[in-house]
This record gives sequence, C-alpha cells and structure tokens, in this order.
Amino acid sequence: MNKPRPVHASMSQFPVVDNQIQVGGMSITQLANRVGKTPFYAYDRQVIQAQIDNFRRHIPESIHLHYAIKANPMPALVNFLRQGVDGFDLASAGEMQVALDSGMPAAMISFAGPGKRHEELASAIAAGVTINLESEAELQRALLAAEQVGQRAKLALRVNPDFELKASGMKMGGGPKPFGIDAEEVPRVLQQMKGLDIDFMGFHIFSGSQNLSAESIIEAHNKTFDLALRLGEHAPGEVLKLNIGGGFGIPYFPGEKRLDLRPIGDNLAALLPDVRRQLPNTRIIIELGRYLVGEAGVYVSRVIERKRSRGHTFLITDGGLHHHLAASGNFGQVIRKNYPVVVANRVSTPALEECSVVGPLCTPLDILADKMNLAEAEAGDLILVYQSGAYGLSASPLNFLSHPAPAEVLV
Ligand SMILES: *Cc1c(COP(=O)(O)O)cnc(C)c1O
Repeated sequence: MNKPRPVHASMSQFPVVDNQIQVGGMSITQLANRVGKTPFYAYDRQVIQAQIDNFRRHIPESIHLHYAIKANPMPALVNFLRQGVDGFDLASAGEMQVALDSGMPAAMISFAGPGKRHEELASAIAAGVTINLESEAELQRALLAAEQVGQRAKLALRVNPDFELKASGMKMGGGPKPFGIDAEEVPRVLQQMKGLDIDFMGFHIFSGSQNLSAESIIEAHNKTFDLALRLGEHAPGEVLKLNIGGGFGIPYFPGEKRLDLRPIGDNLAALLPDVRRQLPNTRIIIELGRYLVGEAGVYVSRVIERKRSRGHTFLITDGGLHHHLAASGNFGQVIRKNYPVVVANRVSTPALEECSVVGPLCTPLDILADKMNLAEAEAGDLILVYQSGAYGLSASPLNFLSHPAPAEVLV
C-alpha cells in the first residue's frame, strides 16, 4: 500500500460560497474590489475571536492571555485585540507606541528583546511598562535610564531556561542564547537586585515558537514551573508576574495538524494548585502571537500572466516574497514547503493543474507555491495564501525591487 501524500490541514476557518472564499463575510472578489487593489492582506476579526475563545475554553481561567505584537503590529488589529486579551508583549519601542495607543494599561504590558536601546528603556520606564531584562548589562542600563527619567523601573528577569522546547519550529531557550539570563546565573542577579530602588515584577521564561506538539508544550510547562518555583525562592520581592511563554503553533505545511489545547489546559489545571501554594498572588501569563492571528490572515495577489516554460506552468502574480517572505520559504525554513495556496475565485474547481505561483521579483527565490496542484487559473484570477496573519508583511523585505506596498485590511 502506498502511503497517502501528506496534505494541508483543512482551512475551514474561511467558508466557501459559489466557488469563492469568503473573508469577513464577503466573497474574495468583492473584498478585492472593496480594497481597490491587489495585492493585499486581510485579517478576519471573527477568526481571531475564535482563536481567543478556543484558548479561553481550554486554558484555566486564572491564566492571563497576552498578545505578542511582533506577530502582527497592524494598529487596527492590535486595537481589536485590546478587547479580547489581558495584556500585550512588546519587542520594541515602536510596538510600545501601538500598544499604548490601543489603550491597554501599561501595567498589562511587558517589553522583552535583546539590545534594547537607552531611549527604549527610558520610554518604557516613563510609560510604566515592565521591562523583561535580557542580561546583567541591561539591568545596569535600565537603572541608569530610570535615574535619568526620575521614575522607578518595573523589572522582570527573562530567564534562558536550562531545557529546550522539543519539536519547536524556533528554539529560543536552552543552550547558549542571546535571549535571557542563563538560569544558573539568575540567583546571583536576584541577589544583586535586593538592595535596588526598583519594582521587582517577576520572571519571563520563553522556550520556543511554532510548536504543534501538545506533549512537548506540556513538558516545557512542567519544567518552566519547576524552574520558576526554584528561582522564586531567591526573588528580591513578591513574584507579581510569571510569563511562561507560549509557542502554540498553527499548521502551515502538508501533514501538519492543528494543536489540541485540551491536554495543555488539563495539565496546567493539574499544576496550578502546587504553583499557587508557593506563588499565591502571581499573575501567570501565556503569550501568543501567531496562534491568535496567523489563521485569521490571508494574502491575496492577482495573476498577471500565465506562462509556459518547457512543459511547466507558471502563474506570475503581482505579489511575492517582498510582501510575504515566510510563504516564499525564506523566513527560517530549511527545506522549502508550500503554504496552503488556492485560486480563491475558483476554490471548488478541481485542483488538477500542477503549476508554480511566482512573484514579479527577478530572483528564483520569489515563489509563493512550488509545483502545487491548483484549479486552472488565468490572468485576473486571485491567488490566496492562507495562514498569513502572522509574520507576513512586517517580516518581509518590502523595499526589495521597489514595488508598491500591499494594502492591509481588518474585516
Ligand atoms: C516572538 C515571540 C513571541 C511570539 O511567538 P509566536 O510564535 O508568534 O507565538 C512570544 N514571546 C517572545 C518572547 C517572542 O520573542
């Protein structure tokens, strides 16, 4: 028996009516007309809300949900998330402006990331945002910035854990890392913090990203709480916040399946009584970026030309890697795989033509779909890339080849 070829997970978050994908309750053709140009990104509020609801359904109520703005910093989308999540996590002062503009209270915002500049530290302190320190040197620089601003700094320690998140798309903890203070050094840094005129906030332990294995996430949660409880004994004050990371993934490639949050929630529920004994008042936080917004976004470009070359069909579109680096396979992929891609105005037409969808850039890297089976498309048709709500436009080299920027809409 032949093993069946792995397929993409069903993109059932967007209904299909009359051969057209519906985004934000509109057919893709109507939406393209409404936007007024291609290419564009569209993010669907209802799909974002469904992801939040799914988190709330399975994860214990006392755990706070934060949105990591890095995944998609579009202001309208951040403003929408302001209502549905409990806080924001930032990776730059630019993101801090968007977060504060949304009205999210500074007490619910944390700022992580290596190499924070002096002005970034100073604005975060002035705003009352918690700074997750990535190094001892950053502690010293934060103290200097606090003195200059004339306010106490709210400081947490980002810990580089002594374990790795297994089966993770991007490992960000364990081993030598530019992120966080090595777990074994943390007790010493906490000791240094004891006499300082600061507000000690707690710990941030983030071990990795894009994980589709509930088992690995559960293992990471067990180890994270274990580490946090050990470090908590050395804390210079009450641990007010404990950010246990996130890393919940979404299915991008053939064979990948959606993450089931139920066992993750059950495990957290089982861990909490012990954690609460030692940390009764600690706000426990899970920070998610792509899980909340990735599934809600589509990237839509228009076919400019069908081209045949030595027996192979190319659909040349007005969009490409300059807008969507991740879909082109050049954002952290080792072996290029196709995102789920369809001809959005012919979704119910059998996908019988093997073809490649490419962009207008003069480089062989500019591929949106490589030898994929699609409905037979012609010039003017709309090519849609699913799973494009996170690490899309803001993670792409927009200026490469000086083409116009895509539109971005929240629907
Ligand atoms: C990038 C990042 C996130 C978001 O990761 P996702 O995979 O988008 O959920 C969360 N926390 C930190 C510290 C990050 O660097």
